[in-house]
Amino acid sequence: MSTTSTLTLPRIGVLAVQGDVREHLAALTALGAEAVTVRRPDEVEQVDGLVIPGGESTVMDKLVRAFDLREPLVRRIAEGLPVYGSCAGMIMLADRIADGRPDQQTLGGLDITVRRNAFGRQVDSFEQDLDYAWSDPAVSGTTGPTGRTGPVHAVFIRAPWVEQAGPAVQVLARVGEGPAAGKIVAVRQGNLMATSFHPEVGADRRIHAEFVSIVREHRLQQSGARQSPEREDTA
Ligand code: GLN
Repeated sequence: MSTTSTLTLPRIGVLAVQGDVREHLAALTALGAEAVTVRRPDEVEQVDGLVIPGGESTVMDKLVRAFDLREPLVRRIAEGLPVYGSCAGMIMLADRIADGRPDQQTLGGLDITVRRNAFGRQVDSFEQDLDYAWSDPAVSGTTGPTGRTGPVHAVFIRAPWVEQAGPAVQVLARVGEGPAAGKIVAVRQGNLMATSFHPEVGADRRIHAEFVSIVREHRLQQSGARQSPEREDTA
């Protein structure tokens, strides 16, 4: 359970065992979060949300286990911790992998099957503008214009795609054109969000803003839940 109050900035960790950590820290800081690296088990307990960056999921999996991070991460995800996974981070959040290493484990949480390196060798990396299902500000409780409209310029680097998604999974974006047209590349399920692409590489902060909103809402709910037993006592 996080120890921060709702009056302070949301503290959002970036899993920092491997991958592109710095860019995520910068994006989160720019959005008014307190962004911190997470490398040790006790640091997992101290965040209101977590980003799992792009990198190499097989290496990340090994290091997460070697640093005793697996148990606290799996537990906090099960408790409802908001987590955003980008690329290798999406693989880490998937319940099932296709084309994983035989011994590769994920943290899980998202009822999806991801296919690693799905776009194939010839199109290792590519960029495309995608339609994105931005959260409705009225639903998310955000007041005023969020600026979260219009397509996303998505950068894919040896990216996975979502091969199969369970009924509770909301599809946020699909590849629009080319041989992979229609493939799912952004999803949300409860407090878990994942993209096959890398929003941290450009100046567009909207995807991170979506995640910071999820973290803020979750914190509000948590503080409400903490207060309600006292209210019952005094009633
Ligand atoms: N192909 C990598 C993996 O399997 C992911 C690539 C990335 O995160 N840019 O983990």
